[in-house]
Formats: sequence, C-alpha cells, structure tokens
Amino acid sequence: MSAPLTGSSKLPGIGTTIFTTMTALAREANAVNLSQGFPDFDPHPSLTKAIADAAMQGPHHYAPMEGLLSLRELWAERMYSLYAAKLHPESEIKVTAGATQAIFTAVMAVVKPGDEVILFSPAYDCYEPAVILAGGRAVHCELSPPYFKPDWTEVGKLINPRTRMIIINNPHNPTATVWSADDMMQLEELVKKSDILILSDEVYDKIVFDGLEHFSVLSFPLLAERSYCVFSFGKTYHTTGWKTGMVCAPSQLMKEFRKVHQFNVFSVNILSQIAFASVLKSGEADQDLAQFFARKRDYFASGLQGSRWNILPSSGTYFMLAGFQKISDEKDTDFALRMIKEAGVAAIPVSVFYHNHTDHSLIRFCFGKKEETLNRAIERLMKWK
Ligand code: PMP
Ligand code: GLN
Repeated sequence: MSAPLTGSSKLPGIGTTIFTTMTALAREANAVNLSQGFPDFDPHPSLTKAIADAAMQGPHHYAPMEGLLSLRELWAERMYSLYAAKLHPESEIKVTAGATQAIFTAVMAVVKPGDEVILFSPAYDCYEPAVILAGGRAVHCELSPPYFKPDWTEVGKLINPRTRMIIINNPHNPTATVWSADDMMQLEELVKKSDILILSDEVYDKIVFDGLEHFSVLSFPLLAERSYCVFSFGKTYHTTGWKTGMVCAPSQLMKEFRKVHQFNVFSVNILSQIAFASVLKSGEADQDLAQFFARKRDYFASGLQGSRWNILPSSGTYFMLAGFQKISDEKDTDFALRMIKEAGVAAIPVSVFYHNHTDHSLIRFCFGKKEETLNRAIERLMKWK
C-alpha cells in the first residue's frame, strides 16, 4: 500500500544523513569509525561531575526559554574576552539544543518563501534542508581544492535583491580551512550596504591550528549587526551527545529567533546548562583545544606517510581531507564503501557535501579520536594500500 504522503515529500531526494549512514555501516562492518565527527573519549571529569551533581540536586524542570541567565552571562564574558564583542546576556544570547537547532531556528525565523540564501559548497549538511523547509532557495558558491578559498567576486555576482542570507562556516567542515581577516573584510564589503543577513556557523572556533587566528563575525561590527553567530558546547567540551549550543545575535534578530525557538524546542536540557555554567565559571575544563587536536592531526598524518594518500592541509576543525587519486579512480562514494568493507575504516566521501556531488576523489577523516583508535585506523589503511 502506498502511503498518502508519497510524491509530496517536503524534502524530496533527502535521505538519512551521511553521518548516521556511515556510522551504522562502520558498526556493521566492525570498522574503525573516522566518519562521523565526534570524539571517542570522555569530557573533562569536572564536567561529568558537574552534570552528575546537577542530576542529584536538581532542578529538574523546564529551564527558562532563553536559557539559564548565569550561563548566558558567562557566555557574554567569554565572547568579550575572545572576540571583543559586547553582548547583552538577556537580549543577545540564547541557549540552544546544539548548533543544528540554532541553525534551523535562525533560518526559519528570517527566511521567507522566495528568498535566496547563499551557501558555500561543499557545505555542512543541515543548511540547505533548513532553507528549503523555510521556502527559500539555496544558491551555491563552489569552493575547490586544495585551498577551498572563496572567490569574493563570484560571491558578489550571486547577490541580488532576493538574497536574504549568506550562511558561512568558519573553521570549515568538511574542508578544514580557516578564513583570514581579509575574507571577513571582503564579506563585510559585500553586504554592508544591503539588508542581507549572515548566519555564521562557528562551532569549531576553538580548533584552529598552526598559530592561525579565528575571526568571528562578532569581531566585525558591520557583520555582527546582521549576524546569527552559532557555537556548540559539543565541539568545545567533547560532549556532542549533550546537544547544547549557543546563538548570539542583535536583539531584533534574537526576538525573531525566540518566536520560533519557543515552539520548536521551548527550552533546553537544564542539567547540561547547569554543568556548562559551572565549568565556564571555574575554568576547570578549559583546555588548549588547538594544541590538543593539532597533535592528533599530526599523529594521524605522519602515520599515513609513505602511503599513496594525498593528505591536504588541515588548518582547523578535527577533520582532514585525503585524496585517493593514486589509489583508485572510483567514485568517492564507491571508494568509501569499499574502504569500510576491505580496509575496515570508515570515512566520509566529500562529494556528499557538494550540492551537485562534485567528486574530487577526496575522503574526509575525523582525527578527533583516541590514539588507539587512530593507531588501528593507520595500521589498517597502511596494510590496505
Ligand atoms: N555545524 C557544523 C559545521 C558541524 O560540524 C556540526 C556537527 N557537530 C554542527 C554544526 C552541529 O553541531 P551540534 O552537534 O551542536 O548540533
Ligand atoms: N558534525 C558532525 C560531522 O560533520 C556530525 C554531526 C551529525 O552526525 N549530525 O561529522
């Protein structure tokens, strides 16, 4: 019997996310999972203790819709110390159920049917579905290896009176590139005389390598005044399963965000909010994430030295792209599937992040894993090819 919905899906052509798919395949094949981006180690003990204490002591009921004020106040301090941004904790900061919800809610809040939203392709997978569900149209600016640098003249050509928003992601998943101050200024130049909004996904803001700096939209007043800026505690504190994030925006934009948020999640898990407020205050769980992940990056890359993989530079995030041109001429999706079965290592084929599935024979590895996990992956990959 065919279901009444058939033929009228709101997201035709979109199936289960590649992250869920690959992780399931990795499990099935008992493969080392370097596909989905999550650390396979525990958060700092002060954080697990803080959430355990909160679970014992409560409160256990709805947190305020905007998030705990103490957490928002501490976040305001953090944004000031990192980005010299002066944000009002009551009206310009909001706790979300992870960055994914923040992105979805921001798009729903301001994108209307017929609006265009510029995306950089390859793009993290949740942007375009949100735009489509809001009735908007995604317009893609393609980035190419090995540097994946935006061509700002090309971006300028995509702007027209229907352009409502530009979604940026810096540091960038999946390419592991980091924008320069010049990129930010070029963006500012393009939008400053328009009413175009920016959605800035900065979930990897603390994971930038080799002495490079993260430039947040919050540090550029002409960008900050038109931006939703999104962060994730999952990335910064190795707690992806706690699904807690933050969004910062000028009060007018935040007002619209709240209207949607209250009906889409209403409020966020109170225990994780208490725990994050506790560690933000004490600083106990603070860690030099850049150094921590740079070591893992270097460890993994040096383990593959002498192989036929072409490792691309990774300047930020916990991802690394590797070219397999010298190993096979298969489609990257076929190659990734064969690699799971034959090598016992799962990774993500990069074409899935391109709107038109451009295939550059690249695979994305997540190196944000324990040393023993990386060792197993290296051993298997070196034996395979
Ligand atoms: N944006 C990017 C670029 C990501 O890689 C991820 C994955 N963690 C997210 C957003 C979603 O973050 P969260 O898990 O907090 O929803
Ligand atoms: N952000 C993670 C990645 O890029 C995955 C998050 C998810 O599974 N939705 O792999």
